[in-house]
Amino acid sequence: MRIGHGYDLHRLDALKPQGSGRPFVLGGVRIDAPRGPVAHSDGDALLHAVTDAVLGALGLPDIGQLFPDQDPRHDGADSAAFLRDAVDRMHAAGFQIGNIDCTVICEVPKVGPHKESIASNIARLLCCGRDQVNVKGKTHERVDAVGEGRAIEVHVVALLVARTAAS
Ligand code: MG
Repeated sequence: MRIGHGYDLHRLDALKPQGSGRPFVLGGVRIDAPRGPVAHSDGDALLHAVTDAVLGALGLPDIGQLFPDQDPRHDGADSAAFLRDAVDRMHAAGFQIGNIDCTVICEVPKVGPHKESIASNIARLLCCGRDQVNVKGKTHERVDAVGEGRAIEVHVVALLVARTAAS
């Protein structure tokens, strides 16, 4: 088995055109929010951290190396494409998801009401069962940039296991 850790942070800003924030997307789920991530891609910090956890477990280059943010092809890109690529690499290396645990830290929006749809979507992208994916939401107690609503932060730990013939 292999273990990987993924981390991501995105600055949050008022939505375009008032600010430079993109629509708020978390785990591939669009959520209404007054501020959104400043990013070259769609800014989905959760899918970025999941992708890096899988790549990290495999000892592969990270998401920034594989999908450089200077590349115009990734402007506004659906981050699910990055994760699908990492999942293809995982399967090619002979592994599948054992389980994955995600912690999202932001003040607004609240993650709780969207946990189920986010976890289901991540399970679909990872080609694993819903019971192998856990998503937790926390605030940053109003301190520092995350607590002041100026950023979103995500930590992910992924355990990969040898792929079985049936999967
Ligand atoms: Mg990112």
